[in-house]
Amino acid sequence: MSVEERVFIAGAGPVGMVAAANLVRYGIPVTVFEAGAKLSGESRASTFHPSTLDMLDDLGFAKPLIETGLVAPRFQYRTRQDGIIGAFDFAAIADATRHPYRLQNEQFKLTRIILDKLKDNPNFKIEFGKEVAGVEQDSDSVTVSFANGAAAETRSGRWLIGADGASSAIRHGLNIEFEGFTWPERFLVVSTPFDFYSVIPGLDSVSYVADPEQWYFLLQIPGMWRVMFPIAADMSDEAAMAPDYAQASLRRVVPEVANFEVLHTTLYRVHQRVAKTYRNGRAFLAGDAAHINNPLGGMGMNGGIHDAINLTERLAMVVKGGAPDEELDRYDRQRRQVTVEYVQSQTIKNKQNLEARTEEDRVRFRDEMQRASEDPVLARQYLMRVSMFASLKRAAELG
Ligand SMILES: Cc1cc2nc3c(=O)[nH]c(=O)nc-3n(C[C@H](O)[C@H](O)[C@H](O)COP(=O)(O)OP(=O)(O)OC[C@H]3O[C@@H](n4cnc5c(N)ncnc54)[C@H](O)[C@@H]3O)c2cc1C
Repeated sequence: MSVEERVFIAGAGPVGMVAAANLVRYGIPVTVFEAGAKLSGESRASTFHPSTLDMLDDLGFAKPLIETGLVAPRFQYRTRQDGIIGAFDFAAIADATRHPYRLQNEQFKLTRIILDKLKDNPNFKIEFGKEVAGVEQDSDSVTVSFANGAAAETRSGRWLIGADGASSAIRHGLNIEFEGFTWPERFLVVSTPFDFYSVIPGLDSVSYVADPEQWYFLLQIPGMWRVMFPIAADMSDEAAMAPDYAQASLRRVVPEVANFEVLHTTLYRVHQRVAKTYRNGRAFLAGDAAHINNPLGGMGMNGGIHDAINLTERLAMVVKGGAPDEELDRYDRQRRQVTVEYVQSQTIKNKQNLEARTEEDRVRFRDEMQRASEDPVLARQYLMRVSMFASLKRAAELG
């Protein structure tokens, strides 16, 4: 079978599509295999951090994303007992970014923007209804096979990026362990157009509220708010998804409203896992295929886009610039390490802070947030960390 002179990408989520766009920018031919019949319209990630917006801007995607999204220059932490305990303004890092704000917009808008821009480029191909099911490789090519109707077909390319999400067939095919754990509770996201500003004084469009009984997270996106609650392990999925339960949960936020308009309710299982390696020969893992974490702090997709840029910059150096193969090992070394050090540790800490059950933990969190938001040096450090610039700096230092 002939080898196509292309980079194959499994998965047309935000990570696969950003990887495709950056390779095409370098004039490298790409084929994206997407299992679905079209781009996913699922509403999952909705936070784009400043560091990611800077990268998307270099590719020409930030402007249309910002035009349809909601700019959030501030975010805040509260506890149910104490009210606001810390508020942060991205203006404090305006010298480090062209986008000193979080952008709240759904991830599916990004993939649509990218497809629209790439679809007529001769170096870009996307094949829908192609679920990659198997992968094999030798010293100069990677061969993929497909599930379902395309089962008889195999295709060989030069390199493969597995951006096929948390259940990655590429990761399984390469026998790469997905180390970590699954939280006992699930997360419920309730979307409502209710105007929380009218009843919660001083509310920012991103607000994390700690409560030992039931913490929650309020996040505004265009046209609605998403409110996230933990669901205890002993509650059934049916009970958690019942309309009455969504109403009762929202009444914990605003007790005086009898009936909220609810647009969507979604229940998620939550994991903290990192693949044992991000590289196996000519195949790589990126995004959720390589790491998953709880959504508090909005780091999953953002970290995945950072993977996509790091990896494709190195692939371009090897494919176009004649850099040695070892250049690609730096992708695994840098991105895997910062996923563990920053994304995993920060998202676990975010969850533990919000659910703090003892008085000692609650006071520690309150004092830490107060100190960080009142001291300009600490505030800047904190903002650099949560907007993921610190992880990019650390990755670069890893060499
Ligand atoms: C409630 C919730 C809120 C979140 N909020 C945020 C947030 O605000 N910010 C943030 O950064 N992250 C957030 N995340 C995480 C974010 O959604 C993921 O990290 C992100 O979707 C990962 O992108 P991806 O491209 O790696 O994978 P996916 O988005 O899962 O895309 C994978 C693609 O691959 C396709 N595919 C799957 N298997 C195959 C196969 N075998 N062959 C070919 N194609 C295949 C799928 O159809 C899909 O199109 C949130 C997650 C949840 C659940």
